[in-house]
Amino acid sequence: MNLSSQLSLVKGVGDKAAEQFANAGLHTVGDLITFLPRGYEDFSEIVPIAAISPGKRTIRARCEKISTRRVRRGLQITTATLADSTGKLQAVWFNQPYRVTQLTGHDEFYFSGEFEFSYNRYQLTGASAEKVSDMPVSTDRIVPIYRAVKGLKGQLVRKILTELKPLIMMLPETLPQGIVEREGLMSYSRAVLGMHFPDSGRDIERARERLGFEELFHLLLAAQYNKQANSQLDGWHIPFDQTAVKGFVDNLPFALTNAQRIAAWEILQDFEKPHPMNRMLQGDVGSGKTAVAGLAARQSAASGFQSALMAPTEILANQHAETLAKLLEPFGLQVGLLTGSVKGAARTELYARIADGSVDVVVGTHALIQQPVTFHKLGFVVIDEQHRFGVNQRQELLKKSARMPHLLAMTATPIPRSLALTLYGELDISILNERPKGRKPILTKIWSPNSRAQLYDLMDEQIAMGRQAYVICSLIDENEDNDLKSVEAEYKVLLTGPFKHRRIGLLHGKMKPAEKDAVMNEFANGKLDILVSTTVVEVGVDVPNSTVMLIENADRFGLSQLHQLRGRVGRSEHQSYCYLMNSTSQKPTQRLRELEKSGDGFYLSEVDLKLRGPGEIYGRAQHGELNLQVATLGDTKLIARAQKEAKRFVESGQDLVQYQQLAAAVERYQRLTTLN
Ligand code: ADP
Ligand code: MG
Repeated sequence: MNLSSQLSLVKGVGDKAAEQFANAGLHTVGDLITFLPRGYEDFSEIVPIAAISPGKRTIRARCEKISTRRVRRGLQITTATLADSTGKLQAVWFNQPYRVTQLTGHDEFYFSGEFEFSYNRYQLTGASAEKVSDMPVSTDRIVPIYRAVKGLKGQLVRKILTELKPLIMMLPETLPQGIVEREGLMSYSRAVLGMHFPDSGRDIERARERLGFEELFHLLLAAQYNKQANSQLDGWHIPFDQTAVKGFVDNLPFALTNAQRIAAWEILQDFEKPHPMNRMLQGDVGSGKTAVAGLAARQSAASGFQSALMAPTEILANQHAETLAKLLEPFGLQVGLLTGSVKGAARTELYARIADGSVDVVVGTHALIQQPVTFHKLGFVVIDEQHRFGVNQRQELLKKSARMPHLLAMTATPIPRSLALTLYGELDISILNERPKGRKPILTKIWSPNSRAQLYDLMDEQIAMGRQAYVICSLIDENEDNDLKSVEAEYKVLLTGPFKHRRIGLLHGKMKPAEKDAVMNEFANGKLDILVSTTVVEVGVDVPNSTVMLIENADRFGLSQLHQLRGRVGRSEHQSYCYLMNSTSQKPTQRLRELEKSGDGFYLSEVDLKLRGPGEIYGRAQHGELNLQVATLGDTKLIARAQKEAKRFVESGQDLVQYQQLAAAVERYQRLTTLN
């Protein structure tokens, strides 16, 4: 029996069990051993109902009565009476109507939840429920709880893992021994044992530390190798050309901020190095990233290289093309725009002009990575809002050059340093932490739906002064099941009600690109007073005359996203306003209060990381692909330790070949964490 043995060969696994495992994606012994518990129940602390006191509590009881009612749209409350031999208590769940089916009957359950005072009485809130008969009968105090993937029974998982215990105890070490010793970590075997058969809470902690460390070590080691690999590539040499740079800067309608100057200087220095640039430009919304990218493109063209700028939406690509044309055409450079809307002969012609090098700067959407696009001499690639693209898409574009081109990945979602290190390794980072001169802070205010009328008056005052406004809604269609404002419904309401004397446009993701562009252009040219939109305006859109933003159901958005949205106003010398409409008249969340207080994207990203954890922020896909089972990207201490060891490992010149499992994990991560 070894890790790659089929589970069906393990004692106690019949056909039916094997099928259940297979449905849950568990085929081999190794799969099951690394199927880690999602949590634990501590049954040493079961209290009789008669003796219960407030706090996190576990009881062993039957459900006597249970029912669900719908309080309002979006909220269902399930209440139950639970009884043991000493007494009864009331339990409550929010939006978990399935509890009725689960708990009706005569089975006994362990309920673990918060016993607290709410709705005018003490009750057990949001308790988990585990059937007593599914739990091991032994004296085990701490029982691991497994995810019930496709109905997989925890009882079965525990039983078969018990069969495999002797094998787990023999598992060889997977990390280099020196690291295990220096870091004082549990052995691999003890850690896996500790996850599945813990003796104490401390045991679980130590096991998680060990396995989490290992995951982070893989990730950070991959980053180290990426850095090393990059420094061995030959890049294009783009020498500093003072005349070109000075000409560009003198022609700008504004003076560069200091932060822009430093970032540009860092980029131009990278251009001169023998290996390709691999740099991220982090700049808060409105910090002027495009001008920096434009300057670099100017420099690249001065040496005869083409540049490509890829943006996630058509609206953005159009805007960038327009901006860059203004900045670069005075120097005789050609800027081309390639999106899905460029069709037929125009597209064919553009392909030809990109291929023969007569277009110097190509701006576009995903269309840029399509097969017919070939460059004459691509030297510099800019990816705007880089987190919106997958690794493969970035690589497709980079492959269109004979050598690895210089890469500038731009993002307006500032990433806390610790996290950037883990996600992108030893990246070079430039930061724009300064807003262009003359910009006033955006006045941000949380608003209660009770005073909606006053708010509309304030907005109308601004419009009367010639300014424009955004109204942001989260959804496209009216949805029976929730209270959220849909963009279409809201559009109709505003059109016939409070703003019937104003010109209103509608924008959402389901519209055709041409329709979107038409509306966006009308808004940009001042032909609309109000744009009712979903979050499609979140990234990059630049209409300086708009000074008011109303975000409906603001409490439903993430902090970083709200900050991004808010960045659509405050783009001129006029005072701008952002109103955060709460869904209810209740106390606003901490998220909204933080946003009201601060306009600093870097500060807000740290707060967001604390409040929500990294997975929610940096895209589920990206975090999901990292596939961290134990480690969290918010654990900066463990990250620092793993980082130190990864550096040490690479510097020691050890060969990965002797660590098979390590090598495989690292290789997988190398693909995921590279920028270029
Ligand atoms: P972002 O970093 O959000 O992509 P943009 O590049 O869209 O920001 O720039 C935002 C606006 O600020 C644009 O209208 C741009 O022309 C203007 N801008 C950029 N740099 C400066 C500067 N140094 N001084 C004044 N305005 C600037
Ligand atoms: Mg931008």
